[in-house]
Amino acid sequence: MMGKSFMPRFESLDELKAFQLEGLKWTVNHAYQNSAFYRKRFNDAKVKPDKIKSLADIKYLPFTTASDLQEGYPFPLRSVPFDQIVRIHASSGTTGKRKILCYTAKDIDDWANMFARCFEMAELNKEDRVQIAVGYGLWTAGVGFQLGCERFGAMAVPVGPGNTEIHLQMLIDLQSTVFCSTASMALLMAEEIERRGIKDKISLKKVILGAERHSERMRRRIKESTGAEHVFDIPGLTELYGPGTGLDCSLHQGIHYWADFYILEILDPETLEPVPDGEVGEMVVTTLKKEGSPLIRYRTRDLTRLIPEPCPCGNILPKHDRIMGRSDDMFIFRAVNIYPSQIDHVLSGFEEIGSEYQVHLYHTEDGRDRMIIKVERASGLSVARDGEIAQMISREIRKQILVRGEVEIVDYGTLPRTARKSKRVFDHRTDLFSEEG
Ligand code: ZN
Repeated sequence: MMGKSFMPRFESLDELKAFQLEGLKWTVNHAYQNSAFYRKRFNDAKVKPDKIKSLADIKYLPFTTASDLQEGYPFPLRSVPFDQIVRIHASSGTTGKRKILCYTAKDIDDWANMFARCFEMAELNKEDRVQIAVGYGLWTAGVGFQLGCERFGAMAVPVGPGNTEIHLQMLIDLQSTVFCSTASMALLMAEEIERRGIKDKISLKKVILGAERHSERMRRRIKESTGAEHVFDIPGLTELYGPGTGLDCSLHQGIHYWADFYILEILDPETLEPVPDGEVGEMVVTTLKKEGSPLIRYRTRDLTRLIPEPCPCGNILPKHDRIMGRSDDMFIFRAVNIYPSQIDHVLSGFEEIGSEYQVHLYHTEDGRDRMIIKVERASGLSVARDGEIAQMISREIRKQILVRGEVEIVDYGTLPRTARKSKRVFDHRTDLFSEEG
């Protein structure tokens, strides 16, 4: 076997919970003593650290949001003196200021261990060659993959994002066995491997996808074209160290998350109360060990659900489902809340179309909303079947999402592909309102 394990040693969930309670108490005290922001936030909520006597008492703690991080720019949530900070990372704000997070040496060390655990969960060994296709720099992804890979003891091949040519060359020359990227990048590679007919020249076994939601269909496509046996889903956000806060095991029945590093609450984004076990809500995280920028009930805006059943793999770490979108990505169409992942899900059921799609929303003159879903005809399929296929998809959308959407089939390869995240929902309804002034 591989020797050192990065898995926690808990024998039971009770032991894990006792550990979480200690971590929660430590975090609350640490933040209260050392961060003016948290102290004020606690005082405003009339909560003192000694209020926390059990895990359930987390409900008394105030929330933290992305705007708190932006308002505290450039060092929000900082809870240690500057001489203890060894690195910062930032997350791109789509609007306004970036969110910058501080790391102490111990935070970096913890993160490497968390990431090494991901590779252990994916059942890598030290012979594996891990080709990293995500970015390096202010954004955390690349360096996290590399630290974790080195800590684990496999060989890191740090190529970075984009640059398909070098990636293909490395896959062939170095015989990389693991490929880490966004879903769009992996799909781009899959198409290139297919186009050049080099599948039998590479040795990919595992693909680890992060940073972007992806459908079952995309995973299937990536596996077929690259020959990889497993596609893993790595969640993570910069506020919470970065990627590497959990991973699905080889059974792929949900993402085991590192509950000894953070507490995950799933709350209704409107009421901020816990949703019933197993229902979808917003992920709210509280760190248990983070020194530089601890998080207390941080609202991630990511949607998922807990998977209450124990995993057949036997690992005691609890699971959440795939990220089902952002509470901000949700769009309302004819009074129905729709998450892009629901559209993904419907489209995944059709072999006749490609994996790229776009949703366009319009407001028509008679005051009704109109949804047009653009999908690509599968390569090699006849245009003559477009009408029939569009109707089938439309029927399925009505059945599964309970809304009427029109489907437009476009030529294969015409929807934009990028190595980074693809924008899929285009809401033109507001354009029209602003034109009408
Ligand atoms: Zn498992």
